Amino acid sequence: MLNILIINLSMPTINLGKSKPRDRTIAKDKYQSIYQSKTWRRLRQAKFATNPLCEVCEAKGIVKQTDEIHHIVPFEIDMSLVYEWDNLLSVCIDCHKELHKHLKIPTKAIKTT
Ligand SMILES: [Zn+2]
Ligand SMILES: [Zn+2]
Repeated sequence: MLNILIINLSMPTINLGKSKPRDRTIAKDKYQSIYQSKTWRRLRQAKFATNPLCEVCEAKGIVKQTDEIHHIVPFEIDMSLVYEWDNLLSVCIDCHKELHKHLKIPTKAIKTT
């Protein structure tokens, strides 16, 4: 922690806008290792196969292909739900962006099935 402080203090101001907080980088690594795991890949494929259409769009009557798999309860909140089938939501890129913009909205409301 002390190291980070020192680095930040000695950092030239040019980097201020671009540099991301340290803990965010660590979290990203953690996600990456999950996303690269066989368990996740298999689960993801199964989810794609089961719900080839965006579930959020579907609820609105729009037919759109699934692009990504979203975690209803984010990793940050409950790590144990990462590989939980019921915690997964098939989404298109647009809906996924929206979901993450409004993560405070109870996403369970979206999943009606
Ligand atoms: Zn969608
Ligand atoms: Zn997501």
